[in-house]
Amino acid sequence: MNETFAESAVRKVPFFTQSSAFAELWPSIRAGVEEIFENGKFSHGAQVARFEQRLAEYTGARYAVGVNSGTDALVLLLRACGLAPGEKVLVPAFSFVASASSVVLAGGLPRFTDIDPVTYAMDPESAAGAVTSATRFLMPVHLFSHQADLRALGELARRHELVVVEDSAEAIGMRQGGRHAGLHGAGGVLSFFPSKTLGAIGDAGAVLTDRPEIAERVAALRHHGRGGRTLDHFPGISNETDEPGMNSKMDDIQAAVLIAKLGRLESDIVRRAELASAYSERLRDIPGIIRMPVVTAPSDYRRDVFYVYLIEVENRDALASHLAESGVGTETYYPVPLPFQPCFADLGYRAGQFPNAEAACARALALPLYPDLELAQVDRVCDLVRSFYLGRAR
Ligand SMILES: *Cc1c(COP(=O)(O)O)cnc(C)c1O
Repeated sequence: MNETFAESAVRKVPFFTQSSAFAELWPSIRAGVEEIFENGKFSHGAQVARFEQRLAEYTGARYAVGVNSGTDALVLLLRACGLAPGEKVLVPAFSFVASASSVVLAGGLPRFTDIDPVTYAMDPESAAGAVTSATRFLMPVHLFSHQADLRALGELARRHELVVVEDSAEAIGMRQGGRHAGLHGAGGVLSFFPSKTLGAIGDAGAVLTDRPEIAERVAALRHHGRGGRTLDHFPGISNETDEPGMNSKMDDIQAAVLIAKLGRLESDIVRRAELASAYSERLRDIPGIIRMPVVTAPSDYRRDVFYVYLIEVENRDALASHLAESGVGTETYYPVPLPFQPCFADLGYRAGQFPNAEAACARALALPLYPDLELAQVDRVCDLVRSFYLGRAR
């Protein structure tokens, strides 16, 4: 077969790549990296401070505190909000494992709730049923392209005096009620893992908050609890704390990449929305597809962002293998409900307690979605999905 390079590029659709973004941004990334080499501060330095400022401007947060990952951002935020040993945190049963493992790492206990089947986020009714006198925190998670119903969850939190901490790791650019994700309660987090909407070239994360006392504690705890760079861009905040901290500092090389990429984030988000609409048009009416993402038109009140294009399908694993054999990468977000992960087995949850989360785990498949993706590649993926189900139907 004499396949041209262009044809093989269409045929192979990796689950994720960002090579053209880097080609375009390389001059500005290089300028940032050269500055780092000149001043010799590779961690927790000037690029990190600059990125924190840019991120605060972009999100509208009073404070954006750069750290080394979204996971550590969650641990630090929970600790900074005063989570005490053994206190319970409501966490949705369907999420990335860090939503719940961060609670354990911060000394608390996750208490799981079911999800809303359309948004995949914490179901307010299930959450209301899970509240006990030991519950202190509520952690809504925003997944894929949807946001949790923060109005209903906020009311529940007020009724039971729960602290709201958002796992907004996937939610950069998402707004509800005019507020950026992560700023609806005590604070939230962002992850800059490479495949996230705003991705670094390694691990990085941030805590967002409007509350100075929380920003101060996170800023101290990320750096051994005390010392180091004074928080000169958080005026009036001291750099000491009375409890052991962690080493969760952000690398300047990641900050330099993120500063450059922040400049094209809005156009990336528009491109992601176009590609998502293209998927939705082409996948409509295919037997075997049980659910497709809800696409909401952006408004002043609300904007969703397509981080992941996720569908629910019959015979999910067979479809994933079929696509893989044809050169198309997919991901199973998330294969096992959190309560049934081995590390949470001793919490005693049983199959059948989280019907919506369990159904999503069995049927969800994420298709390739990133600004570099071409429409011809979307066509190819959708043709393969269609032929898989129509072939089976015959
Ligand atoms: C990515 C992610 C995290 C963890 O972020 P890392 O930067 O990978 O540590 C936490 N929660 C959710 C929902 C995520 O998607």
